[in-house]
Amino acid sequence: NAFMDLHLSRPLLRACEALGYTKPTPIQAACIPLALTGRDICGSAITGSGKTAAFTLPTLERLLFRPKHSPAIRVLILAPTRELAVQIHSMIGKLAQFITDIRCCLVLGGVPIKDQESALKMQPDIVVATPGRMIDLLRNSMSVHLDELAVLILDEADRLLELGFDAEIRELVRLCPKRRQTMLFSATMSEQVDELIKLLLNKPLRLSA
Ligand code: AMP
Repeated sequence: NAFMDLHLSRPLLRACEALGYTKPTPIQAACIPLALTGRDICGSAITGSGKTAAFTLPTLERLLFRPKHSPAIRVLILAPTRELAVQIHSMIGKLAQFITDIRCCLVLGGVPIKDQESALKMQPDIVVATPGRMIDLLRNSMSVHLDELAVLILDEADRLLELGFDAEIRELVRLCPKRRQTMLFSATMSEQVDELIKLLLNKPLRLSA
């Protein structure tokens, strides 16, 4: 049971090594091979389980092997809080440290929207966002769209719902292509989370760790 067995390419294996990860956590061992097939995934996973790398590694792998045809956003990761978004963004930076041409940007409420408009002009492949601010940007900025999104990830879906982001998520999903990969992680499962899974995911594989 090693990262070597998970069909990840060199730059990602090197990053895991540099971070001192000797073997995948259970959620990583389960999620990475399935995510690489492009299937939708919902996972119950708590913070500390290694879930961030579980969804980031296969997503980076997909980006590596799909040449960019346009400057559009290819991956959107939604997080309930600024703190979590910052953590995910930082983790992506570490896991992508040996990849030169993948850009990731943060879109957060509470900071000047102008700064984020300029960050998005850098043509990021990956955007980590809190839902409200992402919608503001999509509404107000002609050049920001999700028409070419390949992967949508919701982290801490239970908290996204607790914080009242249900309507925002539904609006964002309407702006995404139907054909995409969606991954949803939640510490707890509830009726409301299940409803979201039904709405967003197509024949999802269920994982727990
Ligand atoms: P997360 O559950 O994604 O918030 O990750 C919790 C912590 O575990 C982070 O500090 C990661 O850097 C670390 N981590 C993730 N995957 C591994 C791994 N395979 N081996 C050791 N530590 C890991």
